[in-house]
Amino acid sequence: QSVNDTLGHEAGDAFLTALAQRIRQLLPPGAVVARPSGDEFLVLISQLPPQWGDAALHTERLAAALLHALEQPLAFAHTTQHCSVSIGIVVFGGATHEPPMELLRKVDLALHQAKNTGPGSILFYEAQMQAQVTTRARLQHDLREALQQESFCLHYQPQINAAGQVVGVEALVRWISKKHGFISPAEFIPLAEKTGLILPLGRWILHTACTQLAQWARQPQRQGLSMAVNVSAGQFQQSNFVEQVREVLQETGAPAHQLKLELTESAMVEDMDAVVARMQALRQLGVRFSIDDFGTGFSSLAYLKRLPLDQLKIDQGFVRDCLEDHNDASIAQTVIALGHSLGLEVIAEGVETAAHQAALQSWGCRFFQGYGISKPLPAQALEAFLTT
Ligand code: C2E
Ligand code: CA
Ligand code: CA
Ligand code: CA
Repeated sequence: QSVNDTLGHEAGDAFLTALAQRIRQLLPPGAVVARPSGDEFLVLISQLPPQWGDAALHTERLAAALLHALEQPLAFAHTTQHCSVSIGIVVFGGATHEPPMELLRKVDLALHQAKNTGPGSILFYEAQMQAQVTTRARLQHDLREALQQESFCLHYQPQINAAGQVVGVEALVRWISKKHGFISPAEFIPLAEKTGLILPLGRWILHTACTQLAQWARQPQRQGLSMAVNVSAGQFQQSNFVEQVREVLQETGAPAHQLKLELTESAMVEDMDAVVARMQALRQLGVRFSIDDFGTGFSSLAYLKRLPLDQLKIDQGFVRDCLEDHNDASIAQTVIALGHSLGLEVIAEGVETAAHQAALQSWGCRFFQGYGISKPLPAQALEAFLTT
């Protein structure tokens, strides 16, 4: 697919044919190479060389060699092409005779899982793969259904300043499924991102959070609270995202300057100019921005200067061990200094104890969020938390 994107259809096809040739050269004599579809190759080694005692071991070595060779830059039609490769393997034969269709299904499943694992993976077919795929498919189906039935809700985790006052909350989505019980967003958000369901779900989250924000903004004692909403990369990259936010603000009457969108560095891998333009358009509406999980991405620091940001959020991975781990402490200190030198607010998340907060505070951090202050709470419980 990416081959056709970069080379065009005809050249892409020629390239894949050349690739098939290259694969054949790397295989033992008698091996068959086919291209069942698109950029997938099927290799059949039906007669193992006699010296291959352990078929699995040798197949894995062969696959590793194949992978390595195919990942080398390949000169083609005055260009240099880079491939990322995933390999699925099924070992067959011996005493059992499986129908070819069954073998194809298995190898397809192994390949599918290898692709999911990421480029450069080699996976053997295992019986439980079927179960995994089925579970995933079911979860995906239920997720779609949950979206229709609106069986999600938002919890709100307080964010405090150095004086201990609650200055805002982060909205975190929850899915309590009748069938599966509580499912962590760490599990279903990635699935929703993969299947595109994050777009309608993300819109629902934004709308619900803004409805809550508008409601609190009308109450004198809760007026000033900011509402941080997580935005997935795919959601942010929608061409009409700015429009969506504008609509939601209008529909709900939420004060835009109290809405803070949390983006991760992965939302910024897109064309930088487009990202900056989109953020500026939202900024015009009054919306603020925080970079979530800061320090875990691998973007260059130069981009920080260009983005209209308000806040950096130190990733909880660095906060967790900052009392014992000197490296984590240095990273936290560096993020704090960096943020402040760029004129940004810095908030630490995953603050689990008073000692964590005290250390971070001594390093200059002025905003905190974490179980040590409060877990994420349903709206009512959050209101109760505010009055205590
Ligand atoms: P995140 O945005 O980094 O959110 C922080 C996560 O850390 C939340 O997990 C929160 O409950 C948890 N947490 C807060 N304080 C502490 C602490 O002191 N210790 C520890 N160990 N954990 C703490 P949660 O709610 O399970 O969410 C997990 C991830 O799922 C989020 O990570 C975010 O990436 C995603 N997510 C959650 N809600 C949404 C949403 O509404 N939209 C999108 N796009 N993603 C969401
Ligand atoms: Ca977040
Ligand atoms: Ca985070
Ligand atoms: Ca995270």
